[in-house]
Amino acid sequence: MKIWACAGLGTVIKGAQTPGWMKMIRDSHIEGILTTTFNVTGRTSLENIAKVKKILDEEGFAVMAIGLPLGHPEGLDTPCYTFHEGWHIRRDIDNRPVRWCNAITPQLITDIKKHMYELKELGIPAMIWDDDLRQGNYEGDIQGCFCDDCLAEFAGKYRSDIPDGFSRESLRPVIKRDPAGLNEDQLALREAWTDFTCERVTRFMRDTSVEGVQNGIMVMHNGDRRHGIDILKIREAVPDCLFRVGEYMFDDAKFETPGNKRRLVEGVLRHMALMGDVSRIFSESTVYPHGALTPENLRKKIMLERKCGIENINLMGIERMNNPAYYEMLHDNYERFKETGREYTLDNLDSFDFETV
Ligand SMILES: [Zn+2]
Repeated sequence: MKIWACAGLGTVIKGAQTPGWMKMIRDSHIEGILTTTFNVTGRTSLENIAKVKKILDEEGFAVMAIGLPLGHPEGLDTPCYTFHEGWHIRRDIDNRPVRWCNAITPQLITDIKKHMYELKELGIPAMIWDDDLRQGNYEGDIQGCFCDDCLAEFAGKYRSDIPDGFSRESLRPVIKRDPAGLNEDQLALREAWTDFTCERVTRFMRDTSVEGVQNGIMVMHNGDRRHGIDILKIREAVPDCLFRVGEYMFDDAKFETPGNKRRLVEGVLRHMALMGDVSRIFSESTVYPHGALTPENLRKKIMLERKCGIENINLMGIERMNNPAYYEMLHDNYERFKETGREYTLDNLDSFDFETV
């Protein structure tokens, strides 16, 4: 088991200047830092990335990068100014722009690959893209980009699966989450559209991969082919791909809602079943917003993750854990986390009480 933490470049630079900060992090048994080197909303300074790499190397931490490639479709705290030349904002089935989310275009991939070469140059061995790397909002129907250009591209590529007179309206009934009542032609169209959208995320992963920088994707909670995320296809395209399971329940209210711990575990196990090699799987041990999941609930969450068999505990955004109590909790429970092995499978969950872990 290894504990990782995500931290912005500024957090690391400021932390290095704050007496005791590095010691607090190290004493908590955090061994690796994922630092934010790419953000769709603005260019990150290469000078600062190099500076942070140097600081972390000197302090003895493993270093990886995290990037926000497309913008967070549910808003969160990422603002919406994501336009670069040759990129376009994703559109929904009503042709309305989906705020905070770009469609994946060839130019976007070219621009992002450039950043992967920058990481290589700086000696950063891995990038895990944040869970905004998808083409759909949380849950819901089958999604994608329904703008005129993307519909035309789809119609060209999937000619044989497309009915005469194909238009945006042909897709409207077939993308519903529940396929009940669809005829054979509609089911073929549904499958073709899903494949088309999944190919975009898969192509992103394949075409931004650069030798010497391991590529990875953080999958959102319950993220799947509806959102363009086809984990098996991504594994085929990038055999050494890093994955993060999607967990949700980032605050006490959601974490303590009856049934949610089991939902969390089920979501993790379903993702893990597709992701393969456990050494490349990371958790989503997130506290959001600031301080919203108490250290005790974070402890329980990590125990659930360990009982799912996750080897890389990934604390998402230590900026939101700005309280020594979190680091004391990690320190005090490290041995227990470490000695806890996989107990849960999708078939045995009825025999566990997830409240007392
Ligand atoms: Zn489009």
